[in-house]
Amino acid sequence: MRNTKQSKAAFAEAKEYMPGGVNSPVRSFANVGGNPLFIARAEGSHIHDIDGNEYIDYVGSWGPMIVGHAHPQVVSALQEAVTRGTSYGAPTLLETELAKLVQSVYPTIEVIRMVNSGTEATMSALRLARGYTGRDKIVKFIGCYHGHSDSLLVSAGSGMATFGVPSSPGVTAGTAADTIAVPYNDEDAIRSVMEREGEHIAAVIVEPVAGNMGLVLPRQGYLALLRELTQKHGTLLIFDEVMCGFRASLGGAQAAYGIRPDLTCLGKIIGGGLPVAAYGGRREIMERISPAGPVYQAGTLSGNPLAMTAGIETLKILTAEPEEGKADYSRELTIKTKELLLGWQRAAKDAGVPICAHQAGSMFGIFFIDREVYDYADAEAADQEAFRIWFETMLDEGIYLAPSQFETLFLSGAHTDADIAQTIAAAEKGFVAVKK
Ligand code: PLP
Repeated sequence: MRNTKQSKAAFAEAKEYMPGGVNSPVRSFANVGGNPLFIARAEGSHIHDIDGNEYIDYVGSWGPMIVGHAHPQVVSALQEAVTRGTSYGAPTLLETELAKLVQSVYPTIEVIRMVNSGTEATMSALRLARGYTGRDKIVKFIGCYHGHSDSLLVSAGSGMATFGVPSSPGVTAGTAADTIAVPYNDEDAIRSVMEREGEHIAAVIVEPVAGNMGLVLPRQGYLALLRELTQKHGTLLIFDEVMCGFRASLGGAQAAYGIRPDLTCLGKIIGGGLPVAAYGGRREIMERISPAGPVYQAGTLSGNPLAMTAGIETLKILTAEPEEGKADYSRELTIKTKELLLGWQRAAKDAGVPICAHQAGSMFGIFFIDREVYDYADAEAADQEAFRIWFETMLDEGIYLAPSQFETLFLSGAHTDADIAQTIAAAEKGFVAVKK
């Protein structure tokens, strides 16, 4: 049994000083009824807690660590950068360099604005969409998460398209009323909302590969339908690729599915583990942003030189020409992820535990359920107790997973074949424990 004495004591003390002992809710392990591990350090695919336990990490800081923790190229660039000062609040060459790198794989992002979090990116993209179209309403999908700005913290109670109700105290009824929440992957629902209200809707924002209700993939043709309907009604289509960017494929979901959104939000990976996100898209729209245009958005630390440096090095690794005879970085990750997931599926089958497994590039996840999962209602029907048992067993076997079935898991380039074999062996024990 793992010794987690110090993590337990640290959590008890943290609760004295921070709400729930954490600075972001899901870290608290509340969904699995456990005690979060306090992390001391991480390198490559492994993290170490303050009790001295070591784990293979599939959280990857919730997505950013695609090249692994403390990658030597990122670390040495940061070490050098930090000696030149940590922030100037003035333009640097680094910002243009990162912008160019992003544009080289996201050609729909003609112009980009760097911000500090995914929340800021989606919030600002919506303000821009409203400023550009002169319309107030937005459409989001139930179970998609776009950060915690007021108008996006809204879900609808039923499967029908409806006016939103606040899902968090503190979101005003007026704000919620401008957000229409629609079930994901439901063609009729989005069609009827757009028919009814299209001329008042500034933007449809979607996680094109949904990673915040567990991993749920768009049905064939669904994203194309969103593109068609938004175009027809003069509504902007915003792809929130904060999570699936550089993961669903190097060029994100937009490259994988061949759809051109008007605006894209990126985050996580473009900061290489430092706080960066961005929104960008068609020049004509982006040039409404201050100071080029009237829609205001700003940030003291936006484009921070350390954060830009970590992002640049991470993207350089991802976009580097592959060695002779090898697939590119993204393809390699996809292949390895597939191997891991096949191992889990085999183990679950052998143990007689029904699961639904999904993969998009280097994102993956499983639901403990005996049917396909297409939306939030399906995801909610998955067996939470089975997940809890499996999660606990995995942790005991040295595998660190997101502590909730409604999250996505991530592979990095640092995960080795041995890591994957160990993770499959652990999962076998986990499924047997679930079956007991
Ligand atoms: N959009 C998506 C798709 C996300 O997954 C997240 C966070 O997980 C966000 C936005 C918010 O990003 P941040 O936590 O950096 O504010």
